[in-house]
Amino acid sequence: MSSLSPLEAAARVAALRREIEEHNRRYYQEAAPTISDQEYDRLYRELQDLETQFPELASPDSPTRHVGGTPLEEFAQIRHRAPMLSLDNTYSEEEVAAFFVRLEKLLPGQKITTVIEPKVDGVAISLLYEEGVLQYAATRGDGTTGDDVTQNVRTIRSVPQHLRGAHIPRLLEVRGEIYLPKAQFAVLNEERNAAGEPPFANPRNAAAGSLKQLDPSIVAKRGLGAIFYSTGVVEGAQWQTHREALDALHACGLSIHEKTWTAATLEQVLAAIHELDAVRHGFAFETDGAVIKVDSFAQRDAVGFTAKSPRWAMAYKYKPEQAETRLRDITVQVGRTGVLTPVAELEPVFVSGSTVARATLHNEEEVARKDIRIGDIVVIEKAGEVIPAVVEVRKERRTGAERVFKMPQFCPACGGPVVREEGQVAVRCVNASCPAQLKRRLEHFASRGAMDIEGLGEAMVELLVDRELTRDLADIYQLNVAKLASLPRTGEKSIANLLAAIKGSKTRPLWRLIFGLGILHVGVTSARALATHFHLLDKLMATTADELQHIPDVGPVVGPAIAQHFENPGNRAVIERLREAGLNFGELDERATRRRQVRRNHVGHHRHVKRAARGDRRNDPRPRRQSHRFGEQKNELRARGRRGREQARQSAEAWGECAQRGGVSEDVGSGGWPRGVASFPIS
Ligand SMILES: [Zn+2]
Repeated sequence: MSSLSPLEAAARVAALRREIEEHNRRYYQEAAPTISDQEYDRLYRELQDLETQFPELASPDSPTRHVGGTPLEEFAQIRHRAPMLSLDNTYSEEEVAAFFVRLEKLLPGQKITTVIEPKVDGVAISLLYEEGVLQYAATRGDGTTGDDVTQNVRTIRSVPQHLRGAHIPRLLEVRGEIYLPKAQFAVLNEERNAAGEPPFANPRNAAAGSLKQLDPSIVAKRGLGAIFYSTGVVEGAQWQTHREALDALHACGLSIHEKTWTAATLEQVLAAIHELDAVRHGFAFETDGAVIKVDSFAQRDAVGFTAKSPRWAMAYKYKPEQAETRLRDITVQVGRTGVLTPVAELEPVFVSGSTVARATLHNEEEVARKDIRIGDIVVIEKAGEVIPAVVEVRKERRTGAERVFKMPQFCPACGGPVVREEGQVAVRCVNASCPAQLKRRLEHFASRGAMDIEGLGEAMVELLVDRELTRDLADIYQLNVAKLASLPRTGEKSIANLLAAIKGSKTRPLWRLIFGLGILHVGVTSARALATHFHLLDKLMATTADELQHIPDVGPVVGPAIAQHFENPGNRAVIERLREAGLNFGELDERATRRRQVRRNHVGHHRHVKRAARGDRRNDPRPRRQSHRFGEQKNELRARGRRGREQARQSAEAWGECAQRGGVSEDVGSGGWPRGVASFPIS
């Protein structure tokens, strides 16, 4: 119980409501939350408690009355047949015990079987099937009305357009979760980083952000997955238990959790929760808890609902793995486009499976908003269990010796002036010959996701730029034995390998070159779309910003950026020298496409249709190395990459075929992971 006076309570309630509304807005509208779920839950709980203790303060527009966020304006609205309720959730095992004891009281003398399922950290979704045909997909919205995201959900491979099996209900409203696989999350953020866009905070935000896309072709490329775990209105089928319902959904071709637990006592419930916690990091999707549900529908009816949630279910949330450490310093990294990024230099600390010594702080505003000071004790967490992030500061542990961080007025790499562009958070070094920018540009160009030049990594780039052997991208192709022999630690063999790799990069498909050029905002997705659309680099270069905007996957931000890049005389000169060096500007792609078309007529596409029909209950990570400069996460991703590599190799050919069908040109098997091909038809 709070010891506040009614007046103090009123003030606190008002403040909490403002704060929670603001976090809701950031979470649902911008998909960019600034506090952890735990912090959010704490605020929410405090407000709930105060409203209970001071009923006179209750208000119909309090955030405690909404189940979720307000629907977006751009999407049509769909009214759910049965409301989508949220579950009570807790971080405390005592409350799980209280939940179970309450059930025992409500169902005296009965055996209560519960099912324990992983709680997927994704976006709740409701689908309606009529006569087995998908009618629509809607987000939860406010619980009664949600956004119509049918077009986007149709692009998700594990969502069947048609149900199958012998017993398809006439009407089936099915509920589940749309998620972004963890491996896809890492890849997506790497791409956003490369394109100069802010990263997603976690896979859930990435999934929410993807579903909010108005262009389904973008959604299709995100590689979303879906898992189903409950139903709304059902006609033409009767199930006695949750277990039975899940089996029926599965039989209809809907993906369900592969592993769930059954428990009939509190001890068994807690044991299941612990067991789930021990295995959940191995799942393809991120989980943040366990859901405990009464299995029997008759018992569910008997215990009923509170105003907001069912009494027969509860979500237990795992505390995110966090670690405290000291922030030794904040350094500033200069990116490919000149953007200055503050980086937290940490006393190394072990969290979620690896040692973390650095974490990006994104921008100056972020540092100020979280009030992060040099010398602070900070809390570290991994977003999506991969990318380390500073989530909060232990302000109570400050000694007074902490220093406030200020963004430098001059580029730390070249000493040139920095500017903040109108309306942007980013601060940029505008010196065209800034060596730090050149290094990042070269690394990007040579990276595995772009031109894939083995041996031209961070260390080699550092040497080449510092010794002025490369002053731009085209200089890579002017390297020879004599020049490389002057570098330290280079043997005959490594020189030969590097030169061979450079030569090999001349025949890369056009999209890799477009991506490799490092045009502002142009990620892999746009690069592929541009290559598919124009076939030849010269055609792309001759197109105006206005024309570019109207190409799918390009749009009003990317279009002008492309035009600007090609208008720049310096860039044009580099491109001409790349042409002279003999790089593929698209001619090779056309020949390859013709070859593949011929082959496709022989190798049927049945294989991948089958694959699609199976859904993605398999782990399908399609990982690849990421070009972040933070060593630990790189190793972690590499390890994941090795595991997924064999799988990807096996499916590579099938993917290639899909890519063709989807109109996307892909070079399967040359080291790049096949991507962007999730939009092929399923039925
Ligand atoms: Zn600079």
